[in-house]
Amino acid sequence: MKTHIIDDVETIESVIKACKVCFVGMSDSEGTPYVLPMNFGYKDGTLYLHSGQEGRSITILDNNPKICITFSTEMKLICQHPDVACSYRLQSCSVICEGKVEFEEDYDKKVEALNIIMAQYVNRKFTYSTPAINNVKVWTMKVDKFSGKEYGVRESGMLTEEL
Ligand SMILES: Cc1cc2nc3c(=O)[nH]c(=O)nc-3n(C[C@H](O)[C@H](O)[C@H](O)COP(=O)(O)OP(=O)(O)OC[C@H]3O[C@@H](n4cnc5c(N)ncnc54)[C@H](O)[C@@H]3O)c2cc1C
Repeated sequence: MKTHIIDDVETIESVIKACKVCFVGMSDSEGTPYVLPMNFGYKDGTLYLHSGQEGRSITILDNNPKICITFSTEMKLICQHPDVACSYRLQSCSVICEGKVEFEEDYDKKVEALNIIMAQYVNRKFTYSTPAINNVKVWTMKVDKFSGKEYGVRESGMLTEEL
């Protein structure tokens, strides 16, 4: 089974839209990596995240705002033959986005960002209290670089079993 490069933005965006969580990688001033699972929203080439005002991630990002965000869709286990270990694959698509985090301070833009995050999960409108908006830290990342891969692609005529 093959791995395909996904190089069109529409497919990359559809992979991001299909995910419920992303993995945000950052690196502190000593080069120690730190990766967090986070909820997110995506719109027009920008990723939106939110967190509390303080913590290890915020300390790291204040010093080094470069991040790398990985998405992976739900996986399906398939194989060509149940007795052959190396014929097993997890079918899935993944995307990596790179860029720099900026923290949004504008009240209305924070609301807009939270609406984009909520829209990733539920299809309804929300209102937010002023303290909630003031207390939340909103992260935005304009994507500088996208890459995508599709794993476990069947070759034509190949017989596989879903498990
Ligand atoms: C599915 C999912 C979605 C999430 N979505 C969000 C989100 O949208 N926004 C958000 O702020 N947080 C989210 N979290 C929690 C997030 O992963 C972090 O725990 C949180 O942001 C605090 O990070 P911090 O660097 O401030 O941690 P701190 O409180 O400073 O962490 C202290 C220490 O705790 C450990 N730690 C921190 N986070 C984790 C973790 N997730 N797993 C294991 N150990 C950990 C680390 O060793 C770290 O050094 C989510 C978690 C999950 C599982």
